[in-house]
Amino acid sequence: MTSPSHTQVDWRAVQRTRLLEELRWARRSPFCADRIAPLDGVTADDAFAALAATGFSDKHSYMSAMDRGEVLVPNVPLVREYWTSGTSGKGRERIALGPIEERSFLFTHMVQMREAGLGRGSRLGLTWPGGPQAGGVVLREAAEMLGVIPVELGSLDTEDKADFIIRNGITAVVGSALYLRRLLDVGGEALADALHVFLIAGEHYPLDWAQHVDAAGIRTFEWYGSTQTGALGFSCRRGIVDADGERGILHVAPHMFAIEVLDPDGEHVADGERGELIITGLARFATPLIRYRSADDVRWLGWSECDVCGRAWPSIECGTIERVDDMVRIRGMNVWPSAVGSVLARWPEVLDYRGRLWVDERALERADLLLETAAGHAPDADLGERIQRALKEEVGVNFAVTFSGGPMPTAEFKQRRFTDERFGG
Ligand SMILES: [Zn+2]
Repeated sequence: MTSPSHTQVDWRAVQRTRLLEELRWARRSPFCADRIAPLDGVTADDAFAALAATGFSDKHSYMSAMDRGEVLVPNVPLVREYWTSGTSGKGRERIALGPIEERSFLFTHMVQMREAGLGRGSRLGLTWPGGPQAGGVVLREAAEMLGVIPVELGSLDTEDKADFIIRNGITAVVGSALYLRRLLDVGGEALADALHVFLIAGEHYPLDWAQHVDAAGIRTFEWYGSTQTGALGFSCRRGIVDADGERGILHVAPHMFAIEVLDPDGEHVADGERGELIITGLARFATPLIRYRSADDVRWLGWSECDVCGRAWPSIECGTIERVDDMVRIRGMNVWPSAVGSVLARWPEVLDYRGRLWVDERALERADLLLETAAGHAPDADLGERIQRALKEEVGVNFAVTFSGGPMPTAEFKQRRFTDERFGG
């Protein structure tokens, strides 16, 4: 994979042609046919205009239609079913895949594993408990296609995981940024020496964390995706931090996905600006995915050419993806959990947190923050007070800070860290 091969292809032309084919195919799906206008006389040059005239879908409408069988293109066999992690609060939802999307879900992971230097005989530790979601299965299959040996660590507690990794020549692990921070804390220098590669799912994490891990000699790579979309963005060998310490880039394969990043008025944002990521899958067969609102807020970096790998693909920024619906309003302030996380990241002794919003008997809104500290770091008397002060100054909310006194349950992929009990929930 040399860089010139990426720049010699006119990816935008490839994308226009693929997009028109995909829109035509998707009209066989009753759910998509309702949203895509007839395409008679439309040429590839007009494919993006046709897309812009297509109605959005979102997780709720897509999964409801999936449940009724209306997303499916008739007569295409289904070969795989996954369940979402149920973060929407409606419980787990089932998603079916045909043979083409089932294979294409592996593509991004395979490219990324190669970019991360993994290959035949490498051992890759999977840290998530096995579940019905796509994540673990897809990563395992992608690894196996490359001859990388997947090792399931999900059933071990964090100390046993660290010990197992050190003893068994596992050099790469997959997990959430926050979980890998905990793992590194528990495993210490011996673990940092054993590991060379982290693969993390697209989420928000402080730049300090990325720089810290990089300084420990572990190269970190990020991907972005969901059960509905598959993995669509990946960081190349450049990693999640540049040589100059800045955030890296998630490349999106233009023959697999057409992405839009839109402002609240539905206009595409300029390079460097933030907006909601809208996803159209270009390699779907049984379950077309057209103009799917991800509910993720991302920074769009344009089609700029990567000076490390040479890809001139659509790109978004590493480490700054936020759930649009994760924002909570506390006493009239808009608060992103990631802003809380960024402040807490400054204290190495704080490993994880949970927020709770509630209303007291005088009908006053309360915001509690429960912190887990690393083993061996007994919180001193004024630690809570210092954290409280920093949060008040930088996030604008007065949190009542307490410490858990022991490990909290491991955060699942994309788990919400705030619970909102203010409305009787
Ligand atoms: Zn690159």
